[in-house]
This record gives sequence, structure tokens and C-alpha cells, in this order.
Amino acid sequence: MARCKHCSKGGLFQKVDKEGLCKTCAPTVTPDIEKHSNVIYEAMHVHERAQTYDEKLAALDEIIAAARHLEQYESKGIDSCNPPPSLVLSEYSGFRDELVKQGG
Ligand SMILES: [Zn+2]
Repeated sequence: MARCKHCSKGGLFQKVDKEGLCKTCAPTVTPDIEKHSNVIYEAMHVHERAQTYDEKLAALDEIIAAARHLEQYESKGIDSCNPPPSLVLSEYSGFRDELVKQGG
């Protein structure tokens, strides 16, 4: 018996994919995770190269918002990005606090 990690529906005839998602959830959840993971990776790059306070802050806010969004999946045991969103969130929230302290 399988149970979907996202909607928690399970049953004898329930089928889930390798991420543990049923066919109702997979088409919405999988692209949503992909989209937000890409936002995080891109914003990490932007953050690394950013020269100004405003640029850095904007990139950090983007990373934090996307990681918060992905945390809902992590809490259900669905793999999203690597490193996991909770780790990204704590690390980049720290960077943001430092930045604001220094330049705000
Ligand atoms: Zn489902």
C-alpha cells in the first residue's frame, strides 16, 4: 500500500512515483519544487557576485522566500532542493542579519 507524501491519500490501489507523490499531486508539486529550487540556485549565484547592499539584500530575500516555500514539502518528507530548504533558510537568514547589521 502506498500513501502520497503530499495529500496523504493512501489505499490499496494508490500509486505513487519515486518522489512519493500520487498522480494528482505530482503534476503540480514537482514543477513547483523545480521552479523554487531554480530560484534559490540562481539567487545564490547573484548573491555571490553582488557588489552592492541592495543587490545582496534582494538576492537574500529571494532565497529566503523560496526556501520558506519549499519547507512545506520538506516537512512532509518530500525531497526538494539540496541542501535542504531548512538549512538554506537558516544559513541565508544569518547572512541577511549580518548584512543588515553592517550596512543597514
Ligand atoms: Zn497526492
